[in-house]
Amino acid sequence: MTRVELRCSDPACARRVDRDTATYSCPGCGGLLELSYDLSPERAQDWPGVWRGRLPGGADHDRSGVWRFRELLPLFPDPSVAVSLGEGRTPLIEVPSVAASVGVAELAVKHLGVNPTGSFKDLGMTVCVTEAVRRGVKVVACASTGNTSASMAAYAARAGLRALVLVPRGAVSGAKLAQALDFGALVVEAGSSFDEAFALLRAIVEQLGLYLVNSVNPFRLEGQKTVAVELLEQRGWRPPDYVVLPGGNLGNVSALAKGLLELWEVGLLSRMPRLVVVQAEGASPFHRMWSGGRRELTPELEPATRATAIRIGNPANWPRARRALERTEGLTEAVSDLEIESAKRELADSGIGCEPASAASLAGLRKLVARGQIEAGADVVLILTGHQLKDTDYVGEHLSGRPGIRSAEPSVEGVGAALRGWL
Ligand SMILES: *Cc1c(COP(=O)(O)O)cnc(C)c1O
Ligand SMILES: [Zn+2]
Repeated sequence: MTRVELRCSDPACARRVDRDTATYSCPGCGGLLELSYDLSPERAQDWPGVWRGRLPGGADHDRSGVWRFRELLPLFPDPSVAVSLGEGRTPLIEVPSVAASVGVAELAVKHLGVNPTGSFKDLGMTVCVTEAVRRGVKVVACASTGNTSASMAAYAARAGLRALVLVPRGAVSGAKLAQALDFGALVVEAGSSFDEAFALLRAIVEQLGLYLVNSVNPFRLEGQKTVAVELLEQRGWRPPDYVVLPGGNLGNVSALAKGLLELWEVGLLSRMPRLVVVQAEGASPFHRMWSGGRRELTPELEPATRATAIRIGNPANWPRARRALERTEGLTEAVSDLEIESAKRELADSGIGCEPASAASLAGLRKLVARGQIEAGADVVLILTGHQLKDTDYVGEHLSGRPGIRSAEPSVEGVGAALRGWL
């Protein structure tokens, strides 16, 4: 069995911590923890073939788009213990008309909204909840803008665990709440922002013996990093020039970078793509830090954006996100809610639905190309993080210029009248 270590993610410290630790930060420096392995390049050359061989999939752990790549996350000697809902296996869809309008050579979307509960959180949650079961945990908990709670509640139900969710009052979409409630979670509304709910939860988890599954949990990132592998596999191992994704708590960019760096380390990646984090203007502390050439993040005390999944002012993962951009020559951008709205609409006009936060990636790409920070010939992949049906209120609120809904008398003439001017 490969060596598995839990370590401080700050390379200047790198302190080793027991895998069963009940804390989420380094006892030495307070940095976040991460898993590391001695991945061997000799065996890695066979992995693409092994992974392809599992594609038809008999067992849950072979069908899963996370556990299929388990050589990169050798955490459980027996893969059949995986708590899986068939996550991953999400499509990579080319959008040539959007590429032309943005002005890049190639553009595809990797749609992580097509996961069991409709967001990329499922990729991390399958690993995190499997670890919770290994530890004998009874209750898993998270603070959430909605998607983490929906995902946690589903995997907790699958594993027979209880689920506790803290959400900011009135700031989570009804659809996401409905998912958590449907899966049997207890939902506690507390505070007015994600940051407040998260700080409250962090203050009580250890004392109450809850297992925290937010992205400060290192096992989350192990699942989420597999998006790098699936993406490269779908492209025949041809790396894109840029991968663009929205950033909230910055776990996903940290995970994506970890996946890419590990593929690099074992020789399965020929060139490192540049990672691009896009934040909403009203919640863009990381963009302000990076673009301002600063090394410390100043939290945004009152984060504001209609894209609720990225309405986060004090992202827990910023130090590792900064290292992710340093190691991939990354970029950041901030976009307004209006820019998000038109990007979402442009994707919809290509038949691609997603939630508002996901569309931030296209909005950011457009600005970076317009400003010449991303070159016109670039080959780009956008990560779409959540499903269109996650926030249907948003669609209703942003219909102007769309044909929309008309009401008609229930007769042939009535329907005919309703079509006037449209046909
Ligand atoms: C969680 C989430 C994000 C933000 O991801 P982070 O890892 O917190 O940066 C973006 N979009 C959607 C749809 C999400 O659910
Ligand atoms: Zn440390």
